[in-house]
Amino acid sequence: MQSPSSAPQKLDIAILGAGESGTGAALLAHAKGLSVFVSDAGTIAPKYKAQLQAASIAFEEGQHTEATILSAREIIKSPGIAPNTDLIRAAFRSRIPVMDELEFAGRYAKGKRICITGSNGKTTTTLLLYHILKAAGYSVGLAGNIGTSMAAQLVTTDYDFWVLEVSSFQLDGMPTFQKDVAIILNITPDHLDRYNHDFDQYIASKAQMFDNLSEEGLAIGMADSGPVQDLLDALDESDEDTYVLCFGTTGFLLDARMEGEELIARCQDATLRIPASAISIKGAHNHLNAMAASLAALYCGVPVPTLAAALGTFANAPHRLEEVGYLNFVRFINDSKATNLDSVRYAFSAVPEPTIWIAGGKDKGNDYATVLPHVQANVKALICLTKYPEPLLATFEGVVPTHVVATMAEAVQLAFSLALPGYAVLLSPACASFDLFKNYEDRGDQFRAEVLQLIAAHGSIATAQTQANTQAKTNA
Ligand code: ADP
Repeated sequence: MQSPSSAPQKLDIAILGAGESGTGAALLAHAKGLSVFVSDAGTIAPKYKAQLQAASIAFEEGQHTEATILSAREIIKSPGIAPNTDLIRAAFRSRIPVMDELEFAGRYAKGKRICITGSNGKTTTTLLLYHILKAAGYSVGLAGNIGTSMAAQLVTTDYDFWVLEVSSFQLDGMPTFQKDVAIILNITPDHLDRYNHDFDQYIASKAQMFDNLSEEGLAIGMADSGPVQDLLDALDESDEDTYVLCFGTTGFLLDARMEGEELIARCQDATLRIPASAISIKGAHNHLNAMAASLAALYCGVPVPTLAAALGTFANAPHRLEEVGYLNFVRFINDSKATNLDSVRYAFSAVPEPTIWIAGGKDKGNDYATVLPHVQANVKALICLTKYPEPLLATFEGVVPTHVVATMAEAVQLAFSLALPGYAVLLSPACASFDLFKNYEDRGDQFRAEVLQLIAAHGSIATAQTQANTQAKTNA
């Protein structure tokens, strides 16, 4: 570890948090000849430490040396660090600009930026649009709240197009970042613990997506979402001549919508009509994601046949309504990425079978009563997989049978013992994973592993029984 004393005297950039975005920002700043100091209050992952050391960038871990950090001209902070911490407040008091990695990276990117936000569907839509633009042969980068940071990539490569997944925490730190296409998929209560438990503050954060659109820029939003529709109306009424496209489930005025089982998207002179069966990702929520991606793709000039073909070949990332397998006619579904109630609501509508629901984790301020009708209609038992079952129990005890478990193995075995043939076991937690798991991937991976083990164990029992029966018959 290098000590703060090895930090340069006149510091251009202090970076708080040496994760993917912080380390990427440090590498880019260093490559651009700026003096950089990286500070992480926790332990820096070996991968990032090695990158900092290889570039001879000064860093510290396990502490924030305030005097060094506050000597910087600018501060780049990890989106995970809340703005109300003592250090960030001190930076504001000292009038040091505090920004997100994307704001900094944006200074060095020439390619067009397509930014995607929403409470749910960001990753799916970002990956889908990236897949479509790649299929069209474009030079395109993928970054933001996903994969390798934009800053790290810019050390060596710029692209004609950047498809960027942008969270509200990132939006809060990118006040001048120019966007060419700005997409808001939906706004439903999430992360309220970071927004003073005030939904309006969270909406205001998402609203920043439509700021700083380039002259030829396009705003895309979902009309089914009240808060998004309000933002689209505000754009329509503003003096600026912003090009706006909207999508939603139904409505003839929409630029993209469903017409029966067909998805229609229109942009300028191009029209896509595609049957839902020809789109690889399923469910009403995914049709909405496909609409957003299609409107953006048409605007970027992707030919309709290329777009239609790419919608059919896209493979989504795991942990999003991922079907893991069947055992005794019980279907197991991994929706570990459902960390809020809106995505759980869509999961319930995409899963028609009677359901054993595995939920719980670190609550972000959920009002569980919003899914009560779905639970009453289709959930046969709730398994609370969490250290903090109280909020779930307060809403669902007496509504459905409830159980509390502390490991994924218990959860899966109990779920299977409660399920009848024709049921689904759905892991759709509505919460963050940090009470029992490293992250949502770890939670989903453990679910998948337990289910596959269960299937294998029963498969071998079944095979053993079949062999025993065959043997018995042969002997008879
Ligand atoms: P995000 O990156 O915004 O968290 P993901 O694409 O990773 O979004 O999906 C997260 C969860 O939300 C998954 O459970 C997924 O099934 C669900 N989901 C995906 N798209 C939507 C949507 N448009 N509306 C509501 N839920 C969605």
